[in-house]
Amino acid sequence: MEQMIAGKTLKDWLEAYPLLESLMETKEIFWKNEQKLSFAQGNKTLPLSLNDINEAKERFQRFAPYVKEMFPETVQTEGIIESPLRYIPTMKGQLEACYRKNLTGELLLKCDHELAAAGSIKARGGFHEVLKHAEFLAIKHGLVTKTDNYRVFADSEFKDVFNNYSIVVGSTGNLGLSIGIIGTALGFRVTVHMSSDARQWKKDLLREKGAVVIEHTKDYGLAVSEGRKEAEKDPSSYFIDDEHSLDLFLGYAVAAKRLKDQLDENGIVINEKRPLFVYLPCGVGGGPGGVALGLKLLFQDNVYCFFAEPTHSPSMLIGMMTGEHDRLSVQDFGIDNKTAADGLAVGRPSAFVGRLMTPFIDGIYTVSDSGLFKLLTCLADSENIYLEPSALAGMPGPFRLFHQKGFPMKNAVHVVWATGGSMVPKKEMQEYYQRGKSHIEE
Ligand SMILES: *Cc1c(COP(=O)(O)O)cnc(C)c1O
Repeated sequence: MEQMIAGKTLKDWLEAYPLLESLMETKEIFWKNEQKLSFAQGNKTLPLSLNDINEAKERFQRFAPYVKEMFPETVQTEGIIESPLRYIPTMKGQLEACYRKNLTGELLLKCDHELAAAGSIKARGGFHEVLKHAEFLAIKHGLVTKTDNYRVFADSEFKDVFNNYSIVVGSTGNLGLSIGIIGTALGFRVTVHMSSDARQWKKDLLREKGAVVIEHTKDYGLAVSEGRKEAEKDPSSYFIDDEHSLDLFLGYAVAAKRLKDQLDENGIVINEKRPLFVYLPCGVGGGPGGVALGLKLLFQDNVYCFFAEPTHSPSMLIGMMTGEHDRLSVQDFGIDNKTAADGLAVGRPSAFVGRLMTPFIDGIYTVSDSGLFKLLTCLADSENIYLEPSALAGMPGPFRLFHQKGFPMKNAVHVVWATGGSMVPKKEMQEYYQRGKSHIEE
């Protein structure tokens, strides 16, 4: 009998979704989301609002004195962890030459690789959830009220309390890193379940911080389920669930408000005549989903959001396109989930994010590993900006749109989200750079 994939034969799947054929061949493709609704329509059933994002933003504000104390690199920003928004004119010129297309709008890079303390977009979601949990426990133990100065979280009596609690997380690397950094700083016992593709230096750094790292031989999905299982056994243990967490999601969403402030500072007003296009690397979906939802709530129909995935891990694309979300994995279609973009090496997407974001996302495209490496080297040479491979997936976005109809590109402001890289060790980065160089020379 023919093998069934979520109740259908492969032939049935291919008939219903012809794009699957190119996906299975790991070709670079663009999927336009025909299920997208107007903001007003999509918003009707949305279980979240700007209020929820404001609460997360206020929580970051309450913790700012603590963050400032613990992470001296945030002194200048008064304990607020935020990244710059930069024009990248030389890179823009390189891309235009490479794609033989003129990008009439502006191209900016949102530099989350520079986020203090964690060096990736996970400093938003990961930090928010850990801080929220710490706040909850501190209030429960009568250590603090919401109107106190949270600098006190650095005091030893807080650490003594948090040391009785553990935090568990499953990760491809960066989420574990951010949870480990803020979790151990607060005094929690932290266990990180790492997938096989996690980089050695991330494991080493975590162990240095005092976290327990458990290495798995399988991929991200297994690392998460093992973490979940372990946490369930222990009532003093808190599991950070990358696939289902609203608190991670809201931490990411705060970025939208901050981006709006930065656009304002640059004199960029987003409206119907000057729409915003945002390109977000997507792994399990919480990071890009949170940012995109925040932007939709702020800019409504004047923002267009695109996710980018590796050709070998197009899990959100398959999940959203079919509406099956986490019921399908890329491996079900013979796609191996092996990519140098370790932050995006996710074979099965978050159903929570997939369902929530289907009415709001404009499309998803895939990028090959060699494409990511070329862009890495190109960005380093043109702008002296060094990103990890995952963080380049957004970069080709504006140029991939030239072949698509129905997007008002003429006066658009394009923001490519750079999601990580500043903590990558020099030697490792040099290898990435060389790899890109050799692909360019091919
Ligand atoms: C985690 C991560 C992403 C994607 O975030 P998800 O929540 O997994 O979708 C993108 N880039 C980098 C560098 C990351 O670490």
